[in-house]
Amino acid sequence: MKKRIIVIEDEPSILDNILYSLESDGFDVCGCPTGGEGEAEFKKNGADLIVMDVGLPDTSGFELCPRIRQSSDVPIIFLTARAEEVDRIVGLEIGADDYMVKPFSPRELSARVRAVLRRYQPVVDKSAEVSQTESNGRHGIPFQVDDERVQVTYFGDVLSLSSTEFRLLRILCRHPGRVYSRSQLMDIAWNEPDAAMERTVDAHIKSLRGKMREVREEIDAIETHRGTGYALKENW
Ligand code: CA
Repeated sequence: MKKRIIVIEDEPSILDNILYSLESDGFDVCGCPTGGEGEAEFKKNGADLIVMDVGLPDTSGFELCPRIRQSSDVPIIFLTARAEEVDRIVGLEIGADDYMVKPFSPRELSARVRAVLRRYQPVVDKSAEVSQTESNGRHGIPFQVDDERVQVTYFGDVLSLSSTEFRLLRILCRHPGRVYSRSQLMDIAWNEPDAAMERTVDAHIKSLRGKMREVREEIDAIETHRGTGYALKENW
């Protein structure tokens, strides 16, 4: 089955180029020139991935993305014309999975779309799996990882996580106290280190911390190990 991609972009020439390139790559595509149309299209027919321009005539990607996130964890790639916006996107509080800065080649975007879709596939590596007993019982940590619902509960509260944050936290929960380097985290979480940047890991970790601090402000659940990487707090 062809993967279905909704592209929300108001500049007709960019939209056409993207649609043409994705279609030649074997994707089923649907182009929408406004945020409203894109949102309606997604609600009506769904999609495997959404490509979304930040600057839209009727809304901004920063507003639209969280609205979509309320009901779906569909992968979202942002397009932005301004490099300054990247920090905000990479901050990922808004729940995007990746971004591209204009101008970019449509082929580059196609490659990024494929990479995000691959990352998004359920992890098949059994060794990376966390069972509930493992995360709750043995280590006595206050996390519950639910692979089927793609959900993590922290002190009884469900964290609202992007798919990438879920993968990262799931790995950290496997061995509290164990330090994972950024490149290990990229390898395990994405199986595709080249497609990601270490800075992206930092940004996701930052976002995860913020979400956990909303549940327990006084606890830093993820420890930074200078020069090496990150670990889940070992003693609770
Ligand atoms: Ca635009």
